[in-house]
Amino acid sequence: MSRPAGEGPRVVSKLFADCLVTGQMIDTGIEIDEASFALLPAFVGKIFCPHCASEHEWSKETAHVVDQNKTQSRAIREMPAPRR
Ligand SMILES: [Zn+2]
Repeated sequence: MSRPAGEGPRVVSKLFADCLVTGQMIDTGIEIDEASFALLPAFVGKIFCPHCASEHEWSKETAHVVDQNKTQSRAIREMPAPRR
């Protein structure tokens, strides 16, 4: 029961940038769905990378939208199912 009350099962997609040093994804803290992201004009920005502790340039072309619900359901599917 750690889920806060009032939070519905809404889709939370987040924007991630790439760390070219570690190959990991950088959480930009921006919540956006794929449809809204597609409508954005091209942009270039800088973001602090917690993985290698330096700044990276990122842009609309290198960013990706990650659906938090999809990653969660994938994790559930990868769990071994109990068999009888
Ligand atoms: Zn990095």
